[in-house]
Amino acid sequence: MINLEASATIRAILIAIAVLLSGYESSASSWHYQDEEHWPQGCKEGKHQSPIALNARDATLIDFEPFSLNGYGESVTAVLKNNGHSAEIRPKMSGDKPSISGGGFNHTYKLDHLHFHWQSEHVIDRYRFPLELHLVHYAKEFGNLSAALQHPGGIAVLAVMFDLSPDDDAEFEPLVSIIDTLKDKVGQPVNLTNFVIKNFIPRNVAGYYRYDGSLTTPACNEGVIWTVFTNTIPISKEQVKVFDEMRTEDHKILKQNYRSLQSLNERKLYLKRSPLRDNFINSATTHSISVTLLYSLISFIVLY
Ligand SMILES: [Zn+2]
Repeated sequence: MINLEASATIRAILIAIAVLLSGYESSASSWHYQDEEHWPQGCKEGKHQSPIALNARDATLIDFEPFSLNGYGESVTAVLKNNGHSAEIRPKMSGDKPSISGGGFNHTYKLDHLHFHWQSEHVIDRYRFPLELHLVHYAKEFGNLSAALQHPGGIAVLAVMFDLSPDDDAEFEPLVSIIDTLKDKVGQPVNLTNFVIKNFIPRNVAGYYRYDGSLTTPACNEGVIWTVFTNTIPISKEQVKVFDEMRTEDHKILKQNYRSLQSLNERKLYLKRSPLRDNFINSATTHSISVTLLYSLISFIVLY
């Protein structure tokens, strides 16, 4: 039989161990998707936060000049790693980094890196996609990502949605097998050869949502220009599954690394419709008008 004094001592020791362990845990990884309430103050108080819900009804139609993409088609070696919050890809360019301009941008933006969210952070027409890719860019004149973060409009993120398809996406396969090997090795870089960024961008980039938002991870810095393409890339259920097995620094399953939806507040959401789709609608309308005219003509001839 344990006397009261001894059991109190044991309890005190257990509490001390628990406190030590919790302290260790929070220092191992400073933030988690499961406790957004503990994210920095700026994430909670900002009024221009990301991600948001996107739909055509809330958007103002806008017409920007076409995008001009340079260097995304090059086949390069890239470094892939599990950074504890996502699978991150950094292309190693021999020359200039890929860059994008046009599309209503006031700067030319250079590509810094790519990373994935599973499931998607943005939702379109209340649909959450299985996977969302972020291509993070900084305005050329600021030289790097951290300097550009200090300026409104200094960062531009292109977001690509992946939608489920019965077939595997062949471009995705080498990536999937590497992610599988580093799912529990946080911070360990692995080389990915013959990586072509363009294969991870929809062929038609003429349709997209545009708004002024933030980084979706702490410190949630605002002044980020978001472009979410409306055309998607197909991916199979098996390929998405590999992301579900990724682990955090403390070896916990990194499941659903997406931030909750934020309010639009006073911001404007813009939609640039793809002219390809508009042409299709126009030609369908034109067709139905000519059919109506033909019927009117026939009935006119029959009547008279
Ligand atoms: Zn992201």
